[in-house]
Amino acid sequence: MNDQTVLLGHGSGGVMMKRIIDQVFAASYGSEELAQGNDAAVLPAPEPGQRLAFSTDTFVVTPHFFPGGNIGRLAVCGTVNDVATAGAQVKYLSVGMVLEEGFPMDQLLEICQTIKETADEAGVHVVTGDTKVVNRGHGDGIYINTAGVGLIPQGRNLSGSLCQPGDAILLSGTLGDHGITIMSTRENLSFSANIKSDAAPLNHLIAGVLEAAPDVRCFRDPTRGGIASTLNELASQSNTDMVISEDAIPVNPAVMGACEMLGYDILQVANEGKMVCVCPQNQAQAALEAMRANPYGLDAAIIGHVEASRPDRGNKVFLETAFGTRRIVDMLVGEQLPRIC
Ligand code: MG
Repeated sequence: MNDQTVLLGHGSGGVMMKRIIDQVFAASYGSEELAQGNDAAVLPAPEPGQRLAFSTDTFVVTPHFFPGGNIGRLAVCGTVNDVATAGAQVKYLSVGMVLEEGFPMDQLLEICQTIKETADEAGVHVVTGDTKVVNRGHGDGIYINTAGVGLIPQGRNLSGSLCQPGDAILLSGTLGDHGITIMSTRENLSFSANIKSDAAPLNHLIAGVLEAAPDVRCFRDPTRGGIASTLNELASQSNTDMVISEDAIPVNPAVMGACEMLGYDILQVANEGKMVCVCPQNQAQAALEAMRANPYGLDAAIIGHVEASRPDRGNKVFLETAFGTRRIVDMLVGEQLPRIC
């Protein structure tokens, strides 16, 4: 690619746009469907009994590059993980980009190559995309939207509404790594040496858990709002209470230290490579072992259980502290850290 930076003409629909598509996007993603060069990717229909899972997410993270990944890795993982929570085999991704005039072409290439590597790791194809360029000063370098499609096998039905009193709550690894990494990179804080983003595609981890524990009720990724928001959502969806134990929650000590220093509640910090799973108690051990068998689940733990709600006080999430007391875990109100993903 001869152009050193993104120019308005790269979003023009003309010769320059064809050049950036051929030399940057299609060259990086290398999928058959893109190479066909049509306006729509044509994909096989699901087989009888299968259903589709479909999700989309937009990524505006700043900085664009951070320890553990970049905006491209986030853009693939965020959507892959959301589609995978339906128990779907994730198949196809779209990648739309809003680029700011002047964005360095070498950075764009690096982001696109990361998209390809992460898509390969997840086993998904980038099949369609879009490019827009906005005037200098009217964007912040790069924004990415991805959408993903997956196939749900016949008979599989996962939903947050299915959690029942007595069920176990599992977490696939340490909390807070992504949020604290972004914050400390942005502020140039010295403890950042020991932490990196957890951004990871978890579709293979989910598939392993479903094989070992077929009656899983649901998966959900504790992204913005952290696990506090995830568990409050599940409690209200299923009309239950969720109880987690402080001692059981895996946390990297460097991340915990940073949270304490900065006054963040670790339960409200964003994660990009973690999965919450609720399953019947008698399958919890099998689900845990399946998580730990995946490279992204080595620190997985059973962190709590589901309880019946008391009708007089609504659905609550409780944290059992090391002293045996219970405190209510609230959903994050507003924005803890803007542009985290
Ligand atoms: Mg999600």
